[in-house]
Amino acid sequence: MHGENTQLHAERLQPSFEPATFVLRGNSANHCAAMQPTAHSHSAVMSSTLLLLLPLIIPALMLEFRYHSNSEIEQYLVQVNTSNPDITHLYSIGKSVKGQQLWVLALGVSPRRHTVGIPEFKYVANMHGNEVLGRVLLLQLIDELVRGFRNNETWALHLLNSTRIHILPTMNPDGFDAADTNCIYSQGRFNYHGVDLNRGFPDAFASLQNQQINEEKMEPEVRAVVDWLQTETFVLSANIHGGALVASYPYDNGNPNQLVGAGISPDNEVLVYLAKVYSYNHTSMYRGDICVDSGPFQDGITNGFQWYPLQGGMQDYNYVWAQCLELTLELSCCKFPPADELPALWMDNRKALLAYIQQVHLGVKGRVFDGSGVPVQDAVVEVKGHQNMCPFRSNQYGEYYRLLLPGTYTFEVRYPDHEVLTETFNIPYGPDRYTALKHDFLLQRITTGAATPPAEPTQANLTTCNYKVNQRGGGAMTGPRWSVLMMGLSLLIMLRSLII
Ligand SMILES: [Zn+2]
Repeated sequence: MHGENTQLHAERLQPSFEPATFVLRGNSANHCAAMQPTAHSHSAVMSSTLLLLLPLIIPALMLEFRYHSNSEIEQYLVQVNTSNPDITHLYSIGKSVKGQQLWVLALGVSPRRHTVGIPEFKYVANMHGNEVLGRVLLLQLIDELVRGFRNNETWALHLLNSTRIHILPTMNPDGFDAADTNCIYSQGRFNYHGVDLNRGFPDAFASLQNQQINEEKMEPEVRAVVDWLQTETFVLSANIHGGALVASYPYDNGNPNQLVGAGISPDNEVLVYLAKVYSYNHTSMYRGDICVDSGPFQDGITNGFQWYPLQGGMQDYNYVWAQCLELTLELSCCKFPPADELPALWMDNRKALLAYIQQVHLGVKGRVFDGSGVPVQDAVVEVKGHQNMCPFRSNQYGEYYRLLLPGTYTFEVRYPDHEVLTETFNIPYGPDRYTALKHDFLLQRITTGAATPPAEPTQANLTTCNYKVNQRGGGAMTGPRWSVLMMGLSLLIMLRSLII
């Protein structure tokens, strides 16, 4: 089941650009974002005694190292959002089978909407309901980002000024409710319909017919993520699992008829680098031999397909159809680690989680303008030697983002009624500056009356990429429905600020 071929693979593709060490200052177990577990019970009328006690109560309610229930997570996110409306935005991407909201907290200096030039990043945890460490890590990460920003810590200011970070602590809340605390068994892995969500996405390597069948029976949690990917141009992502300690990178599936290099993607060298950023910033993942029942993994990383092929996975879907590079992070040997191990597990992952976010600034970004100087959507921006199954395209703002290691690359930009633009330039640095190299492409309209150049390079790509999951009219984003809770919390915070 495990990655026998990873050694050869890693040696062959060792990147010359080594993962940057992420320097973080002032770490401590100082978790300031308060949990407000009893907010539901607060009425609008509070006794004067309680008012006087509020400044004492709220700072004492720390984000504890334990497994919070789904409703506690919701309360925590609401509380963080209410206390920090300038740098957070809370939204739901849809509901689970049993009707639980799939909450996402966005963090950044413009948390409510995309800003041109600011890349979108995301973390998703708990798509397998019984793999639970990610829920804890992502809440701690939110706490850390907010605390760091409020304390004017350089690393936090850099990250939140340069990046919009979306965090979905649980993609499978129903599965979590059904999970037992076993380390290896699968009770709670599936959603309420008994479906493995990491097998439920359309698969680029499946036939067109199978893709359509998959779409028809798409689970609500999968549908929510698919719709979410259409609302933002995510550039980099990771989804967090448990049961091993390894950073796994696309593809998870491959062409079964391909004898050599099956499962290896056109961005392999970037993905290997990204996986190493995580494993080498983790306390021990890079050793590759930590878990007794999985591995060894050279450098603590593996190609997903070479570990074990799977169909309908989320990372391949992100990469192929949403042009978002995604890793699958397996972060604990035990799927449901004992709660007393959580502080140490957070410290194992803290630096890696932050360092990985910074990688969204790798490579190059910019806009594509047409012959009139207007930004254009759907221009194909292709890197020679990195021909993606579905070519990467500019978004509605004319933007493109391309994660690339430092080096010289040739770009080809195609847009109907315009000359094919070919440019070669150097990307001199990595993500250290919290901005990718900026480079715009200025297209020239065809004036000779020649035929429109093809927007797609090959017929094979046409077949795969013309398949589009039906849009549902942008209805994925449901407004928060927590008015009572929200009012209670707002009142609490307002009163507290008045008293202090
Ligand atoms: Zn999993």
